[in-house]
Amino acid sequence: MILGIECTAHTFGVGVVNKGKILSNVRDMYVPESGGIIPIESAKHHRSVSERIYAEALQKAGIKEEDIIVIALSNAPGLAPCLLAGMEFAKALANRLKLPIVPVNHCIAHLEIGRSVGAKDPVLLYTSGANTQIIAYAAGKYRVFGETLDIGIGNFIDKFARFAGMSFPGGPKIEEKAKNGKYLELPYSIKGMDISFSGMQTKLQQLYQKGILLEDLSFSLQETAFAMVIEAAERALAHTQKKELVLGGGVGCNARLQQMCSIMCKERGSKFFCPEKSLLIDNAAMIAFTGEIMYKSGIKEKPKDVDIKPRERTDEVKVTWH
Ligand code: AMP
Ligand code: MG
Repeated sequence: MILGIECTAHTFGVGVVNKGKILSNVRDMYVPESGGIIPIESAKHHRSVSERIYAEALQKAGIKEEDIIVIALSNAPGLAPCLLAGMEFAKALANRLKLPIVPVNHCIAHLEIGRSVGAKDPVLLYTSGANTQIIAYAAGKYRVFGETLDIGIGNFIDKFARFAGMSFPGGPKIEEKAKNGKYLELPYSIKGMDISFSGMQTKLQQLYQKGILLEDLSFSLQETAFAMVIEAAERALAHTQKKELVLGGGVGCNARLQQMCSIMCKERGSKFFCPEKSLLIDNAAMIAFTGEIMYKSGIKEKPKDVDIKPRERTDEVKVTWH
């Protein structure tokens, strides 16, 4: 039994995986009273829920502490206070149960979990709050082929939603509004496989203040922002000659984004893999799942040697497990 712990940002989660099978995936999310995440507050949240989430994860998996053989921890990248809270919990547990720790990169876990739904060597379109990256394996590493040059797509959507008076998270509310909107042109910004949202952000705010319907703005935001990330993902597929696309991150819950992925893949003869919602968002099952693959290849560390890496880049991780 592999125990996974997710703690990189707003979510504290514990999951149990055995031989690639997810036995439990329990989470609790810190929701700021207003505005964005305050890292110290989110870390406090993690500390306050950790014991309960851990107990629930064991109970749902139907296992005892003694069944755990290794602890997988999302030690990178993320908000330092949150990572510290998660690491404290993982180390205390590892020391008590005398277990090794496998440190797992959160972004890579979003890609690896695509294997649980059948992907073998995919391009990952990772669309979350803070991150927007196109990642794929090439020459011994997971490499970032394209990414946002300013803010993450989820934060971009949330920021516009907040501007228009909608609370966090804005993504699902914008998706709802978009259902009754029509298209108007917005700044479309992609350079190679990199994208940026700030031009569209400014334009959306101006149009909103001019009184353009929120439904139309929401629809156009989705069509434009999603077309940009899809174009980057398609370019990465062409460049790497890979034939599989995996979606990851909370924005991946959006039905229109999923549909656009599916259409693009169909048109170029590629396969599209979309994990279920509980595996798209930040979750501990993907950390346990990735940790198991890494552990089986011989990766494990003594608790005292593990540290957080808030700024670790995807391509700094030496991928020795494939
Ligand atoms: P994550 O950072 O991966 O936990 O994802 C959180 C982000 O996903 C937030 O920015 C949400 O607004 C966004 N999100 C969640 N559901 C949807 C949706 N249905 N459409 C667009 N964005 C969404
Ligand atoms: Mg994430």
